[in-house]
Amino acid sequence: MSDPVLSIRGLERTYTTGAGPLTVLRGVDLDVEPGEIVGLVGPSGSGKSSLLHAAGLLEHPNGGRILIEGRDCSDLSDRARTQVRLATIGFVYQFHHLLPEFSALDNVALPQMIAGASRRTARERAAVLLTELGLSQRMEHQPAQLSGGEQQRVAIARALSNRPRLLLADEPTGNLDPHTSAGVFESLYALAREEGVAAMVATHNFELARHMDRVFALKDGHLEPQRF
Ligand code: ADP
Ligand code: MG
Repeated sequence: MSDPVLSIRGLERTYTTGAGPLTVLRGVDLDVEPGEIVGLVGPSGSGKSSLLHAAGLLEHPNGGRILIEGRDCSDLSDRARTQVRLATIGFVYQFHHLLPEFSALDNVALPQMIAGASRRTARERAAVLLTELGLSQRMEHQPAQLSGGEQQRVAIARALSNRPRLLLADEPTGNLDPHTSAGVFESLYALAREEGVAAMVATHNFELARHMDRVFALKDGHLEPQRF
């Protein structure tokens, strides 16, 4: 058996606030297996982003360990953590964070070129991903020329461009109307499956979450398995 793509062990996160310490994660444990799509639900403020940021090695938790493909990354240098992140993890955020001056195609090609791919190879893969996401007619558009749903599709293609083993999505459809949201979500889900990437997707929309392999709710700093 291969290692889980992501193992979270005893994760704790406490913020210092004006009103005193605020503990949002109280010993979270989770394994995400290769190719598995896990949903993370919970109301605003329940700690979804805190969990994703720690899992993605973007922040240091106050306690616990994060293992990526069996490798404990908790005590690595920032530089080594960045390397793991670039090689293994793709992110999608609530707001797309695309580069405004670049076309959709270049937004998806650039991370690959930074990782060492030739311009041609990078653009070819970008075109494949964007086509999969229904954007074959939008590749030369800049982000401002795209709808919100289209922008998020480009962000999804960008996150998958370097073939990560783990996709972390933080309310990727949180800014979209319900109809657009469902479509984008379906695309993300289908493409993640096709690419065989493991994913953890935070959403406050239970309706969207129920299509995932497993769903957990963050409650009082712990993960509770959800049954539908
Ligand atoms: P969610 O993504 O589920 O909305 P977050 O992880 O963003 O939840 O936040 C959980 C709680 O932690 C919230 O009450 C939020 O205000 C608080 N919080 C998040 N980041 C910080 C921070 N850097 N400093 C202080 N409090 C924070
Ligand atoms: Mg959040």
